[in-house]
Amino acid sequence: MTAASTGDLLTTPDDLFWQEHSESITESDEELLRIVGSADLPALLAALAAATADTSFLSGDLRPPLTPVDTVGHPHGGMTPLQQERGRKVAFAALKRLRDEGITRARMLSEAETDTILEYLGNGHTEWAGMLRHELDLAPDKNGAPDWRFEDVAAGRDFTALIVGSGVAGLAAAHRFRQAGVPFAIIEATDRLGGTWQKNRYPGVRLDTPTFGYTYSFAQRTDWPQQFAEGHEIREYLETVAERSGVASLIEYGSALISAEWDGDAGAWSVTTETAAGTRQVRQFNAVITATGQLDIPNIPDFPGQASFTGTAVHSQEWDERTDWQGKRVAVIGTGASAYQIVPAICAGVERMVVFQRSAPWMLPAPAYHKPMTEVFSWLSRKVPHYAQWYRLWVTVLGIPGRFHTVRAEKDWPGAPLSVSPRNQQVRDELTRILGEQFSGHPELLKHAVPDYPPGAKRMLRDNGVWAKALTSKNVTLETSPIREITPTGIVTADGTHHEVDVIVYATGFRPSEYLEGIEIKGKEGIEIHDAWDGDARAYNGVTVPGFPNFFMVYGPNVGGVVAGSLHFMLERAGEYALKAIREVLERGIKAVDVRPEALDRFVEWVDTENRQMAWGQPYVRTWYQNSRGRVSQIWPFTNVEYWEATESLDPEDYDFLA
Ligand code: NAP
Repeated sequence: MTAASTGDLLTTPDDLFWQEHSESITESDEELLRIVGSADLPALLAALAAATADTSFLSGDLRPPLTPVDTVGHPHGGMTPLQQERGRKVAFAALKRLRDEGITRARMLSEAETDTILEYLGNGHTEWAGMLRHELDLAPDKNGAPDWRFEDVAAGRDFTALIVGSGVAGLAAAHRFRQAGVPFAIIEATDRLGGTWQKNRYPGVRLDTPTFGYTYSFAQRTDWPQQFAEGHEIREYLETVAERSGVASLIEYGSALISAEWDGDAGAWSVTTETAAGTRQVRQFNAVITATGQLDIPNIPDFPGQASFTGTAVHSQEWDERTDWQGKRVAVIGTGASAYQIVPAICAGVERMVVFQRSAPWMLPAPAYHKPMTEVFSWLSRKVPHYAQWYRLWVTVLGIPGRFHTVRAEKDWPGAPLSVSPRNQQVRDELTRILGEQFSGHPELLKHAVPDYPPGAKRMLRDNGVWAKALTSKNVTLETSPIREITPTGIVTADGTHHEVDVIVYATGFRPSEYLEGIEIKGKEGIEIHDAWDGDARAYNGVTVPGFPNFFMVYGPNVGGVVAGSLHFMLERAGEYALKAIREVLERGIKAVDVRPEALDRFVEWVDTENRQMAWGQPYVRTWYQNSRGRVSQIWPFTNVEYWEATESLDPEDYDFLA
């Protein structure tokens, strides 16, 4: 087998950013009162209970009710004013204790303490505890890292896995494989790690979900500067994670997976890789883990005359520092998440801009979208042991129910196709009201700014008013007539208008349902995976595919969350599930595991049934969540907790074990 890496024993807490000590508190009582007055109480109370080893104040009557979030989150998870007042008193007393007793050290929790704090944060949802322990770096049984070692279960066995891709998913898988000491190689088609965050460098690129919900459980960075991190900050974070985990030096850059063919006799995949210069190499691996991303292959619509355009044409993902847009006439095609960031970022610097909209986006209010973390947050994360990690956990707790209640469709709802339920209609009304304010004085624009589909049917954006400000700028035009053709000098719309432009930005999204596009994967009996899928990619738990032994997808079909939960959790967990499968192979001394078709059918039926109840599953909706067959093949319609349960172990009923 190919030379590969092994890892070190897990001797430290499962957090590459582990912080043993915080700074001493020296502030006066008055200052502590001020801090407590602006702190996020559930996170602070949890952190203080852990630091002081006193969970007695997390009594039932201080529990955050986790009031469902329709549009803007409720402060302190919906704690009543009375609860807040009492919570602040308790927090103040505990903060003084930290100061007066000089408590600065993070403590690992006992089982009982962990249970009590999780029950407090989760408002009694004990069924969330397993998943939350995966995320809590102080829990005694944090369950993400493998609790076994290759040499203990398969000493001397010639076994090597291949991980394909070094983005968010590939790095997570590689870290876990290294922790288990399973030999592996990791290849990356480009010359840098970081996946989507390495590629997407367009102006304005940043997270449109809260930063603290977008980190690994095993790399809990605490000093994030911004509430919605910028693209380069996430890139740098991923680079640091790769360095600290020891994965960075293992990555073989400029090596793209071309094909893999299963050899049943050898119990190995024959893998062909190719360098940028076109040199091919064939190697054997016992398992292949693909982490090639989902929103990665640009979708560039095929407009008539496209090739004749003599200006600059660039897809959002291909934007780089050479893209010459300043002072130019710029067309932006699309109004999704990428356009939402590009348009406000560049509109002031262009001569004029035309935004081509096919459908308007729904935007959730996010007043803090461009704001730094607060000064109080920064103080707490420096002075209260593991406060930022508790805050991260609190964001995770809130993300479990997320906004599912706003997108679940009611049967025979008369508001369709504009909304899917009374709650969904309320959200529609509220977001429409906000649009009315944002576009006041621009009635023509407002008509086109209100989407004609239900909130949540497509991915919702986060907005602090910059979109409306850009569209109402003097040098910006919103064009809603469909694009008819592209000429050497511009874009002609169906109404006959010719928009002369120098630059066309295709913010037209990706082809997420075309999993493993451009890669040939031949499983048992030489069946190619795309032939097996026939346009409808399906994988059990988003990871395994019948007939493709020891083949695992991380960020495969149906694991993307859109109104709830953490993507990092889903990806980490998929990688961990693949590792559990490999453990079975090693412990049983067999060649491979192969998921049974009936297990996959059952899984797909389960997620399809739920997806059909959602706004994005309605027959009148068109979204990138669906594939060309109309099935919602990208989205996980449940919470993180169900995925934690589904991937907890490899059910022998679901797999064939190939000796
Ligand atoms: P997108 O959401 O798929 O948006 C593509 C846009 O192009 C849509 O407005 C679409 O219109 C339009 N379009 C596509 N084909 C067209 C055609 N033939 N003619 C006219 N318009 C056309 O793509 P995206 O904005 O790149 O975002 C994709 C996903 O990437 C997001 O949903 C998100 O998950 C992720 N993302 C995240 C971030 C972040 O976290 N900061 C940023 C960017 C992207 P229709 O709506 O009518 O189809």
